[in-house]
Amino acid sequence: MKALKATWAARGNWFSPKGREKRIKDYLILANRLVWQRQASFLAAAVLAAFYFDPISTLICYALVVVTELLDEFLGRRTRAWDGNDPVEGRRIFRRIALNTVLSASAISLFVINMAVQQPSGGHFTPLFFLFSASVFAAMYNSQMIGILLLRLSIYALAFLFIGLLDVVRFFPPITSHIWLEFFTIIFVLYFIIDMSVKFFLNYQYRLDQMKRMRAENERTKAALEVKSQFLATVSHELRTPLTSILGSLELVNNGVLGEVPDKVKPVLGIAGKNGRRLAALIEDLLDLQKLEAGEIALDFKPVDGNGLVNEAVESITGYADRLGLSVATIPCLEDCRLLGDRSRLVQVMNNLLSNALKFSDKGGTVTVRVETRSDRIRISVHDEGMGIPEGAEERVFGKFSQVDSSDERKVGGTGLGLNITKQIVERHGGDIGYVSALGVGSTFYVEFDRLTGSDDLDEDAEPLADVA
Ligand code: ADP
Repeated sequence: MKALKATWAARGNWFSPKGREKRIKDYLILANRLVWQRQASFLAAAVLAAFYFDPISTLICYALVVVTELLDEFLGRRTRAWDGNDPVEGRRIFRRIALNTVLSASAISLFVINMAVQQPSGGHFTPLFFLFSASVFAAMYNSQMIGILLLRLSIYALAFLFIGLLDVVRFFPPITSHIWLEFFTIIFVLYFIIDMSVKFFLNYQYRLDQMKRMRAENERTKAALEVKSQFLATVSHELRTPLTSILGSLELVNNGVLGEVPDKVKPVLGIAGKNGRRLAALIEDLLDLQKLEAGEIALDFKPVDGNGLVNEAVESITGYADRLGLSVATIPCLEDCRLLGDRSRLVQVMNNLLSNALKFSDKGGTVTVRVETRSDRIRISVHDEGMGIPEGAEERVFGKFSQVDSSDERKVGGTGLGLNITKQIVERHGGDIGYVSALGVGSTFYVEFDRLTGSDDLDEDAEPLADVA
């Protein structure tokens, strides 16, 4: 009862134009979906009734029921064309549903009353059971519009009472008679039907409220994401422009273009340059991440040769490897190993895997890049002999701003964004990324893509792979 009161208190929402549209549509969609089930029950009832009762009057009543069903179908079609925006049309449809409900419930009631009046006395088991089934059906499937449901049930209740009182009026039996017992049983069943209808209605109402809440939540999340992404884009852009000019000026000073730099100042300028570059890399990562998440990165898919791709990435990273005292070896693929992808983004993927492999290796080590085919896939793997990754660290490795070793004693710097961006780019190519690693032994990161078959031209920038080993 409490729940009913609370729901009743919120009834303002039920009849708001939007709420009503949803209810009307839900009502008609369900009515339409169950149309054959209803027709089958009506036909079965009509055949039974025609066999055991007067066939002519039964068929007339059945025909009336079918006419109201056809009206329902016609109404359903008109409502499907309604976009829910015109409230006048909404009210018109509602009135038609109400009218049709009166007609249909009356036709069904007439159908069962016709049977009841033909029975000489007592029982009325068959018509009452038909009416009971019709009421349960309505309670279960018409709960979207409580007014319409109540209208139908009221007409059924009148039919119930009519049948119950039929023999009371006919025979004026004493209160101890079975006829009165049947009458009171009908009252009990009526209460049961009303109780059940209320429960179905509350259930539907609860689901509607839940959906509304989820939709609102979803809208809020979308709005928050939008704000976050705009904030990131603005901040990153605003930082990038002055930082580029700071780095440019520093370079001029460091290169002695503006005059001799005193030895005492050189290390300080070096630190400023290094940190400036780190900051620039972070901003680039943030911008990339924001664009990927907002779906703003348009990939230019073309056939790309796996060997050429690795060659380009290795060339660009050789200086960094030399500075760290590491060597890079490549094992090219000897077959046709082309894939469809955005070359510059794939180079970015390779650069990230390579710079990580170098960053987490010890001086004197070798990083090996292998390109190979695996049936209809191409795998590019980057193997290092570095510190390795402990078990169960996948989330931290591929997460945002997350690092396996996030302690203050960490030797190598980084933003913790590189592999997250890499994973997103690989996935946008329909590829996979993963790694195998053992602590203190080394790691192998690999990416896999569909192999391109057919006679597509190679990306014109592709070059044959030179073995750097
Ligand atoms: P970053 O390198 O900027 O910290 P990444 O997203 O590229 O961020 O990498 C996330 C983390 O995964 C790294 O901080 C490191 O802990 C781990 N990792 C990545 N590549 C390697 C590797 N080759 N060897 C050991 N650890 C690695």
